Amino acid sequence: MNAEIINVGDELLAGKTLNSNSKFLSEELTVLGIETRFCTMIRDNKEDIEFATELALKRSDVIIYTGGLGPTEDDFTKEVVCNTIGRELILDKEVLSSISSFFEKRNINMTKNNVKQAYVPNNSIVLENSKGTAPGFFIKEDKRVIILLPGPPREVNNMFKQNVVPLLWDLSNIKIKTRTINTIGIGESQLEEEIKDIISNYKNPYIATYARDGQVDIRITIKYKNEQKANLLLREVEKKIHKKIKKYIYSFNNEKIEETVFKLLNEKNFKIGFCESCTGGLVSSRLTKISGASNVLDRSIITYSNRAKIEEVGVKKETLDLFGAVSEETSIEMAKGLLKKEI
Ligand code: ATP
Ligand code: MG
Repeated sequence: MNAEIINVGDELLAGKTLNSNSKFLSEELTVLGIETRFCTMIRDNKEDIEFATELALKRSDVIIYTGGLGPTEDDFTKEVVCNTIGRELILDKEVLSSISSFFEKRNINMTKNNVKQAYVPNNSIVLENSKGTAPGFFIKEDKRVIILLPGPPREVNNMFKQNVVPLLWDLSNIKIKTRTINTIGIGESQLEEEIKDIISNYKNPYIATYARDGQVDIRITIKYKNEQKANLLLREVEKKIHKKIKKYIYSFNNEKIEETVFKLLNEKNFKIGFCESCTGGLVSSRLTKISGASNVLDRSIITYSNRAKIEEVGVKKETLDLFGAVSEETSIEMAKGLLKKEI
């Protein structure tokens, strides 16, 4: 199966909003083993939506729209798509009542415009939207699938993962397994360089890197029939990657770095303390989010100014003058100073 993503929205083409929905969707589709072959951004314009739809129907198995499902005048993706494929829109009482309860819960008056959102394409699956009012739709059209999603990224993420993925699984009849290797201390392009031979050696499993929150994950996805063989192949790839970039890997279990650090400290019965500067407490804050952090965290000091570094943890003035606050030399003295306090 191949996919096409159509992102509808004037603001995308005016350069005001970055099209994060297409990045998210193509990443998710890849994991599902569905290749995204086309991705189109179009304006909130009826002719353009119709044109893009006709083209997509000719060339793509799965067509995913984002945007234009809202209640306002410029939201008409659903109407135009249904008109183009000749599908009737029918008022759905259940959808209407879930939209009104969304407003009731928030104590907001529901306007007439919102009723528009309760019209459902005939013979479609309604995709519930727990983060907003516009429901999405999953429509089967001959051998193709048309999926309509709203524009706001957090609604798209949530609806796709919760409602669309299971439907696509059923459709593709393909089994897929994914493993994630978490790395830290290496940038995405350098990491890719290190493992590029392994990446290009395999098509199935498919290996890709994803940067997030100061770290890079390697995702290995395999489509399979025989589970045992798939597991062996995944293991083989994991081993090869491990051999190449051992020192950057902190987990094979898709963990956050603080979870791994916490586990290691706990196992060894060690305590940790932080002396932070420009992170302003961020590192400690991540560790304290883990339940049981008090078993491993002793204290944290934020020595933001140079004066604090000197007074609180005894960094030498000469070190600061010579190497600056953001330097290995200063960091080492901060750590030594903190260690003295702990003892
Ligand atoms: P709403 O009910 O919020 O109007 P909608 O389905 O009509 O939902 P839009 O009006 O097209 O969606 O977009 C709503 C918000 O989502 C806007 O702030 C828009 O900038 C943002 N948005 C829309 N499409 C994308 C996209 N592809 N990537 C990132 N943000 C997007
Ligand atoms: Mg809108």
